[in-house]
Parts: sequence; C-alpha cells; structure tokens
Amino acid sequence: MANIELTQLKGIGPSIVEKLNLIGIFNLRDLCFHLPFGYQDRTKITQIVNLQPGDEKLIKVKILSAQSLYRPRKMMVLKSTDESSTINVRFFYFHPAQTRQLKAGTELLCYGKVSLSRYGLEMIHPEYEVISSDHALKDKKLTPVYRVPKGIGQKKIRGFIHAAISKLDFAEDFLDVEKYDSSLNMKIIDALATIHNPDAGINIEEMLPGGSHPARVRLLKEEMIAFQAGMAFLKRKQKRHQAFPLFKENEWTAEVQSNFPFELTSAQARVVSEIKEDLSQAVPMMRLVQGDVGSGKTVVGALAAALALDSSLQVAFMAPTTLLAEQHFLSLKLFFNKQAGKVALLTGSTSSSQRKKILQDLKENKIKLIVGTHALFQKSVEFSNLALIIIDEQHRFGVNQRLALRKKNDSETLAPHQLTLTATPIPRTLSMSVYANMDVSIIDELPPGRKPIQTSCLPLSGKDKLIERMLAATKQGSKVYWICPLIEESENLDLNAVMETYEDLSEHFSQEKVGCLHGKLSANKKQEQIQAFKDSKTSILVSTTVVEVGVDIPDADIMVIENAERFGLAQLHQLRGRIGRGTKESFCILLHKDKIQDVSSQRLQVLVDSQDGFKIAEEDLVIRGPGEIMGAQQTGIVPMKYTNLVRDSQYLMETKKVAELICNEEPELANQLIERWISGSIAFADA
Ligand code: ADP
Ligand code: MG
Repeated sequence: MANIELTQLKGIGPSIVEKLNLIGIFNLRDLCFHLPFGYQDRTKITQIVNLQPGDEKLIKVKILSAQSLYRPRKMMVLKSTDESSTINVRFFYFHPAQTRQLKAGTELLCYGKVSLSRYGLEMIHPEYEVISSDHALKDKKLTPVYRVPKGIGQKKIRGFIHAAISKLDFAEDFLDVEKYDSSLNMKIIDALATIHNPDAGINIEEMLPGGSHPARVRLLKEEMIAFQAGMAFLKRKQKRHQAFPLFKENEWTAEVQSNFPFELTSAQARVVSEIKEDLSQAVPMMRLVQGDVGSGKTVVGALAAALALDSSLQVAFMAPTTLLAEQHFLSLKLFFNKQAGKVALLTGSTSSSQRKKILQDLKENKIKLIVGTHALFQKSVEFSNLALIIIDEQHRFGVNQRLALRKKNDSETLAPHQLTLTATPIPRTLSMSVYANMDVSIIDELPPGRKPIQTSCLPLSGKDKLIERMLAATKQGSKVYWICPLIEESENLDLNAVMETYEDLSEHFSQEKVGCLHGKLSANKKQEQIQAFKDSKTSILVSTTVVEVGVDIPDADIMVIENAERFGLAQLHQLRGRIGRGTKESFCILLHKDKIQDVSSQRLQVLVDSQDGFKIAEEDLVIRGPGEIMGAQQTGIVPMKYTNLVRDSQYLMETKKVAELICNEEPELANQLIERWISGSIAFADA
C-alpha cells in the first residue's frame, strides 16, 4: 500500500495529488490512515420538537411557505414543519433555480446545525435533498468528517478513502502485534473499517479523540508502540557511538566555582552529579535538564562545559536567539573569567571578518568554548575536537535545526556529548516518551530567598493609573519591563505597538529613563538597551517578547504585560520568569481588554494563583484542551497521525513496555510498525 501511488485511484490526477500531499497523504496507505476527526449521523431523522440549539441533525420537513427577503441582506427563508413543530431553514446564497424548486409543499431532508433565533429554531445553510414523502433513508453508517486540504471537499475525500480501503490487502494486516499485546487482537483492517464507517447507534463520543472504543484504542496503541519503538531505536543508535570520557577537573572548573557567587541548590547539585556521571562514560551523553524559569540552568551548563574544557576539548553552547546568545556569552565570560580569551560568540550578526577569524581559531583549537545561535550549525563551522554540545531552551529550535546539529556529531568518529536545557513544562510521563531517547534530569527547586511574584489582572481602562504607579515605583528604585502585545504574527505591527507605547511612556517618564527593545533592532542596539537597563540607566524597558527567554537582570522587579489575554499561559509564565530573580519583592500586572471572555479571565487567574510551571501547564490543559498545549513548535517533534501524547497519555507506559519488548525480540516487526505509522518523519529518518 505504501508504494501504491495515489493516481492509481479513479478521479485522482496530478493536481489532486498535490493537494493531498499538503496534508501528508502521499500514497494509498496514507489515505487509509487518514482518520476522521468527527462524524455526522444521517441515519435517523430527529423530530423538530426534540432538537436543541447546537445539535447537528437530520430532519425531514415539508415547506409551509418560502419567502425571499432583502433585509438586512438577501436571503431565502423556508418556514417548514414535520408535524411535531416548525423550523426556519435559511439560505443566504442561492440560485434562481433553488427559488423555483423550494416551494410550499416540497418535502426535504436537511442536515445541519440547529440554532435559536428570536423567530424560533433555525437551520442555516443545511445540506439538503428534495425527496418524495415515502422516501426511505439510505445511510446505515455514520458519515465521517475529515481534515481536508483547500479545494477538496468532504464528499471527495470520503470517496478516495473508501476506495483506498477496499484495496487494502491482507499484507497490511500481516504485522503480528497482538502476540505482544493481547489488547490489540482486533485486525487492523477491521479497526480501520470501523473508524472510517462506524455503524449507526454506536456512541460517537467513544470514537472521537479521547474516546475508548476498541477500534480507536487499537489504532492508537499501535501508533504509540511504533513511535516508542522508533525512539528506542534512536537511543540504541546513539549509544553505539563513542565519545570522549570527561572526568578531569582543573582550572576551568575552578574558575566557575570561584566566580559563581552562590551555593548550588541541592537540585542543581544533584543534576550536576548526574551529568558528571554521564560525561565520564565513553558513550555520548544525551541528557535533558528540565527546570522551571529561574531555577538556575545556566550554571549547570557552565559546570558541564568546564568538564570538557578541562580535558582541553571544545564545547558549543547554543541559544535560540541572538539576544540570548549574547547574554550567555557575557555570563559565561564572567564564569570563566581568567579563560575568557578562549570564549567566543558567533551569531548571525557577527561581522564577516570576525567570523572568519573565529572559524579559523575554532579549527586551530584556539577557541575552546563557542557560544552562538543556529549560526553554529552551518557547514563552514569546523571544530578541532568538539566534545560537548549544550542546547539551551531547545523547544525554541525547529526540527531541522536540531537535525543539522545531530548530523554534525554523526559525521565524527567520536560523537560529542549532548546536554539540553529546557524550561518547557511537560508532564513527566510525557517527557519520558517525547524525549525517550534522552535521560531526563529535573531541577525541581528554585534558589533560596526568592519571594513569590505578586501577580494581578487589570483591565485596560486602569492603564493611566498604572502608569502613575509605575512612575512612583521607579522613583523608589524599581525596574519595569513593559511587554507589548503580540499583534497577529506580524513583526511590523508588533513594532508599531512598541513604538507607540514607547512614545506614550516617554511622555510620562523623562525620556532618557525609557528603553525600547524589539526584534528589528541590530544586535548591538539590543545589547545596548539591555545593558542600559541592567546598569539602571533606564528604569523602564518597553519590549516585545524578545525578552521571553533567558534575559537575566536580577534586580528588575516589575513586569507589565499588555493584552495578556492574547498570550498562551506557558508564554506568560516564561515572560514573567524575567522578574522575581533576585531577593526583591516582584510584581507582575496582566493588562487585558476591559471585556474578556470567561475562559480568558479564568486562564489569567491561573497565573495569578500559581507560579509553578508544571501546574500552569496542567491547568492550561484542562481549560484549553490538550491539542494546543504542546504548541506548534512541539508538534514537529511528535510526528503522529492519530495519537495526541497529552490527551492519550494513559496508554504511554504500557505501550512503551510493549515497544521495548518488540524491539528486543523482533526488531523487524518494530521496523515495519515504524514504517507503517511514522515513515517519512524526519525525526527518525535522519537521526
Ligand atoms: P534559568 O536559565 O533556569 O531560567 P538562570 O540560570 O538564568 O535560570 O538563573 C536565574 C538566576 O538565578 C540568575 O540570576 C542566577 O545567577 C541565579 N541563580 C542560579 N543559581 C542560583 C543559586 N544556587 N543560588 C542563588 N541564585 C542562583
Ligand atoms: Mg536560561
């Protein structure tokens, strides 16, 4: 099936192939595994009296009267009845032929969504069919609803999928997974047939995402097994590489120890010892350190780096943005004070002459520690003996960038160790699957002396008063981040908002006290703005979300976030993590539109009530539903068709066990499962 081309089906030509490709359908098997996200029940007629607003139902009616109206806009209203009650069927777009056809006395089957207007129940633009009064219903099965690309309708894709399934042969079913998990004893062919065309009378809820119908569970578990088998293979592959064992502690380590002004928290110390244990081995470390914003991941990274540097080997420290790379460069130079000459920065903004020099020094092993952005991935960057890669805030990197990095270590005979730092709060069971190829350490403790951030919500109408309060606060020595709204995804619009706010605030504060930071500034200008704020030359920094990750100015103690309702909770949590880093009492004010929906204010309330990233993520899950929690960037690393690892996490542990069993006993089967479910996904193909 995997190698049967789409064009083998009647009605599929090159232009349709192109459209199907857009939603990840490349062959007949992909069509079979393109599963519905909903169903319509057209197998039975509902009486009008039994309709509730919001229902999507099939009704059988006789038109009592048909009227074309022109106010407020052109429309056709069919007053209709089924003897139990009446309903208005309303069309806004219609042909003259329809006006002629849809007359009093005509009988119709209508399928659509029921709503309630002040004239009573309505169905707007239903799918309809003119029928005779003795019409018998044809449909015995529920009608599936699919995700479709632009230009292909439901009816068409249903036809294609139906045709593809009828070509499904026994070979597809041949994979003998049930031997490893008796709960998988339904044939895949039957599970697919049921999912695509369930019998009427089935509980639709059970068939939908989150439901527990055996056919759904059958498919879902198999996909999870395939995914986890893929991760298990990946892990094994990594372990086959060799790496430099790192255990010497010398001047670099001594430098960090003498220049870091605090005691490590016990969580930091534990994580550092886990890393040390890994690094002392001759196989590459693959370790993920999860720690909430402000938990102190940077110093952990620096200590790991020191261990490689003390063996006279090289380290690459990657950050997702230029701004953050620069911040890290500065803090690492402070950490490694006496060795600072061997630390360099390479970003997209590095001048070409500097860049040339850096690349040369890197090759000649004069530079030991290089800090940078994705510019470090480029082919031209060659190391003399790269022993450790540290990736900060890895959720910010796209899949492709991470792959480039991985390739870098694959080409070497000795692979570098890899340490990933992230603040993304993913529940533990989940990270054990998504990051199954890594070992996970958690920094579950904040440095001592932190006071909780006082968070409050404020409607926009209170903004003037707020500005007055900020003015007073800065006179008392406070430092304020003022975060501007994210308007759509457009940088230009963001910029307008920032400039407006900047000018606005400059009028209230004396101009030189207000700084301004956004993505369009040159790297130098950005750095200047941060430095001025750090040195307290400015006391209020108007900024876009460029400060979201990594910026560390411990005495900044107030953050105002405009239009907070537009941000995701996780992002708000990240932003807020810029304050509350020192020992001062800090305040976060979430400015929002005067009128916001209940859900929005409920969401903001979560932030008011909690400062725990994991808890916030979980609450977000409850309020928003699981689909969004992992965000666009996250979905790229979980290339699954059917499973949502958050929603379906209850099956994670058992399927992980089954996957491991299959990998051990029948690797060929594992490969076939991977091929069936996640073939073509870069994450595995190139790893
Ligand atoms: P993260 O990257 O985890 O968000 P950082 O590494 O930027 O956090 O650290 C946040 C702040 O906490 C920094 O100002 C850092 O100097 C400080 N810090 C880190 N570890 C400790 C510690 N053990 N004790 C006190 N302060 C610490
Ligand atoms: Mg950080």
